[in-house]
Amino acid sequence: MKNTLSQETILVHGATPFDRETGAVSTPIYQSVTFRHPALGESTGFDYSRGINPTRTELEKTLALAEHGTHGLAFASGMGAISAIIKLFKPGDHIIVSEDLYGGTYRLFNQFYAAYGFSFSWVDTSDFARIEECLRPETKALFIETPSNPMMKVSDIRRCADLVHRRGGRLIVDNTFLSPYFQNPLDLGADFVVHSGSKYLAGHNDTLAGFIVHSSDADADTLRTIQKSEGATLAPFDSWLLLRGIKTLAIRMEKQQKNGAALAAWLRTHPRVEAVFYTGFEDHPQYKLSCSQARGHSGMVSFYVKRAADVARLLKKCSLILFAESLGGVESLITYPLVQTHGAIPQQMRLAAGVTDTLVRLSAGIEDSADLIADLENALG
Ligand SMILES: *Cc1c(COP(=O)(O)O)cnc(C)c1O
Repeated sequence: MKNTLSQETILVHGATPFDRETGAVSTPIYQSVTFRHPALGESTGFDYSRGINPTRTELEKTLALAEHGTHGLAFASGMGAISAIIKLFKPGDHIIVSEDLYGGTYRLFNQFYAAYGFSFSWVDTSDFARIEECLRPETKALFIETPSNPMMKVSDIRRCADLVHRRGGRLIVDNTFLSPYFQNPLDLGADFVVHSGSKYLAGHNDTLAGFIVHSSDADADTLRTIQKSEGATLAPFDSWLLLRGIKTLAIRMEKQQKNGAALAAWLRTHPRVEAVFYTGFEDHPQYKLSCSQARGHSGMVSFYVKRAADVARLLKKCSLILFAESLGGVESLITYPLVQTHGAIPQQMRLAAGVTDTLVRLSAGIEDSADLIADLENALG
């Protein structure tokens, strides 16, 4: 299907708007591990569900459309997808990574891939000169999260792609925070997009999933083989939950962004709050860049309270906003990166990135914004 429909329409209808055989509007859940072959040497295209499953295939095609790529791969979690993409590279390769990123990605690279002979440089990728300083002859990839987690720094996707392409390397973008509704890194020159589908894409804090989307025919077979060989593929029922979640991505993102903006603006005026990080603020250092490469700002807001002693009370007293890890779901969540999402990152690096004991992260859900503000007001005291 040629990609001329708008993003909202693609998200609702997916790759196959109805089942050809039955007319079913909702993609069937093919809860089958194995598929009968018509005869020796003949195949329906399906054989064993670790490698290929019709429900997962529909989801993979839908995500490829939404991310403006030609190949989509669905994994059992975001980490499953990130682990798979790194296997395109070889021991000895050097990869430059955003220093301010999801702690689980840091742990995977630093504890495991580093031990297998990969080398990583951690740098503030919103500062272009710093990336250039890290380049080495063996640099094969740049892995960025933009906006970054949790400091909301924005990296220039086009410039990053140019830089790494000139050296024959690849750009990988973790697009979890904005989702394909607000940002399409492949259009800006990225080679691979990865997602934690557990966040905005699934959208209901009820399913783990991960994705790789790309348009590289040369890598398509290798990535499929990695996915099938490792076996961290998304189950049929979870694939269906993702298809169902993605149908409402556009309206959820709009509402979550509205709530995020309202919370960010309110927090900025609060006497116990030191600073608020939100890419939708016009005085955000990369506001213009953000508007030039993304269509929105999502519902993610981080802030420093003035006194670390206020954090425990805030987390305890928030009642509507749930004190829990994760983001992107319809329920608003408040997270303490120091001990949750970024607990795996060494203290020195964490502090350098700004993740201190006074930093709190909010993921706005779709509740009424006045209720959310009242909850924060009560909790902040
Ligand atoms: C949650 C998250 C991940 C990891 O995804 P899982 O689905 O939890 O494995 C990776 N990157 C970002 C930005 C995330 O928020």
